[in-house]
Amino acid sequence: MTSVPDDRGPAKGGGGDDSAPGGPATLRVDEREQLVNERTCGPIEAVSLPAGMITSLHAILLDFDPSRLAKAAGAAAGRFDPTQFYQRVVRPWLGRHPVFDAAEVRSSGRGLHGLVRLEPAVELRTEADQYKWAAVVEVVQRLLPTDPDCPGITALTRPVGSVNGKSRTKVTLLKEGRGVKPEAVLALCGEAGRRPFGLVAGLLFGGDRVTPCPVCKGRGSRLDCLDREGRCYGRCGTVDLGRLFDVFLKPRPSPRGGRTRG
Ligand SMILES: [Zn+2]
Repeated sequence: MTSVPDDRGPAKGGGGDDSAPGGPATLRVDEREQLVNERTCGPIEAVSLPAGMITSLHAILLDFDPSRLAKAAGAAAGRFDPTQFYQRVVRPWLGRHPVFDAAEVRSSGRGLHGLVRLEPAVELRTEADQYKWAAVVEVVQRLLPTDPDCPGITALTRPVGSVNGKSRTKVTLLKEGRGVKPEAVLALCGEAGRRPFGLVAGLLFGGDRVTPCPVCKGRGSRLDCLDREGRCYGRCGTVDLGRLFDVFLKPRPSPRGGRTRG
């Protein structure tokens, strides 16, 4: 990426950019966009909200970070190519369920942001609503190999046309999204409760019988994906969801030592 062309009009969202030092006034470096309340765009410290102040939820963020993915996920080492990463890795995952298939996809400059847009937005009138939907967001995020450290209901995205200051690349729209009904998201969560392993394996592999087993990759092995666990007819025996995600996500460096996944 050599330079960032300035082809945008004035920044939306009011903030006023008369303080932008030098350069084109419309480059919005490291701006963020709320997925809640008024969907305001602005500097991170101005637009991030604690969970208790969230009164409406417009979208769920799926943060696909190639640096967190294991090689087996198909994320190529080296320079991040958003289109390739989307086409080869993320699109097949999203395409296997209507809720995910409706997601908008943006290149964030260092990874992809999938946005599952709720239509209509969900109004959170009580503390109970806030807890419920915070839990829903986390369940949805954990059905795919998204960044395990990504915030849940408080997550922010980057507005299309803004600039990622770390990678110095522009945030772009890779795929337009469609709204999904909140009931469809709740139904997905219900399915995640009833058959967590079968659902995740279906999203990742597109079937309930995978050959060879993706965990041991043994010759002649096979992984049968049941509702709550997998059975490998090879070396693994019983496979739980954690081992399935280990195929895709790098072990997380933990300050406490050892590997953890939330
Ligand atoms: Zn196996």
